[in-house]
Amino acid sequence: EQKAVLITGCSSGIGLRIAVLLARDEQKRYHVIATMRDLRKKDRLLEAAGDTYGKTLALLSLDVCSDDSVRQCIDSVKDRHIDILINNAGVGLLGPVESISMDEMKRVFETNFFGTVRMIKEVMPDMKKRRSGHIIVMSSVMGLQGVVFNDVYTASKFAIEGFCESMAVQLLKFNVKLSLIEPGPVHTEFETKMMEEVAKMEYPGADADTVRYFKDVYIPSSIDIFEALGQTPEDIAKCTKKVIESSRPRFRNLTNSLYTPIVAMKYADETGGLSVHTFYNLLFNFGSLMHITMSILKCLTCSCLRRRTISPD
Ligand code: NAD
Repeated sequence: EQKAVLITGCSSGIGLRIAVLLARDEQKRYHVIATMRDLRKKDRLLEAAGDTYGKTLALLSLDVCSDDSVRQCIDSVKDRHIDILINNAGVGLLGPVESISMDEMKRVFETNFFGTVRMIKEVMPDMKKRRSGHIIVMSSVMGLQGVVFNDVYTASKFAIEGFCESMAVQLLKFNVKLSLIEPGPVHTEFETKMMEEVAKMEYPGADADTVRYFKDVYIPSSIDIFEALGQTPEDIAKCTKKVIESSRPRFRNLTNSLYTPIVAMKYADETGGLSVHTFYNLLFNFGSLMHITMSILKCLTCSCLRRRTISPD
């Protein structure tokens, strides 16, 4: 029997690729309801989906920031029956906090945090009633580890991680599965959109040193990291498919093995010093990527081998 899968944010990037991959499933196991804010942006998805449109793929409009839009969309699904909900819609935000308005920050939380919560609130009660379902949330490595100049974006992903970690416990009682996907850098418009915004930014309120660290130090190293370690949206779609097809899906799913040292550092030193100092060194003391990789590995090895002592006074 076909499973109904509803995905948010399918006009581009990871959401588009997940929709296409599931709609093209050879055994036709999925009825994909691909949603997007603005249906005028459907062409790229439809082109990639080919003849699956109208068969295993349907399109609906949905803005995760609107109660009405979410309600109307879910009401229009047959019996409101969704087996798998994939919360993918999200926006990025980059730059010195001093130059970002409170409204811009709230917009990020509205989409990344409240948007996902709104979707879960609408779909979860039916899943609980049926004692079945799977909720997927597109988080990020930045949901686990803070990253300089991504302060607010990171906070929004931490927020959704905390929400899901809490929800997972009661959902287990109702046989509803909940999984986080945590990609590192992925080559999508996300990256392009942010770089365009950075180029336009005027940095009101930020001092010259901060602007320099952001534009001349952070941005080039971030581009290097994307180039060296970035995955494709297809990679993330395949990981997501694996998670939904697993009989016992994991709660947390990092997708990029090259990125796991970042998370390991956090758990290797619960005082947080290792993470903060490693990132400091990466940003301000090393230029080349070689150094970056080496220093991550070096710090990791040291901390794993070193035993901390505790002082009695
Ligand atoms: P993207 O910009 O191509 O896709 C995001 C999609 O969300 C877009 O189609 C956008 O229109 C949609 N969206 C934004 N606001 C919306 C709203 N209010 N309602 C409905 N849709 C809305 O970027 P992407 O990389 O494919 O991002 C998908 C998800 O992956 C995001 O949650 C992002 O945080 C996460 N992610 C991305 C990366 C990366 O490096 N690209 C890394 C880790 C996690």
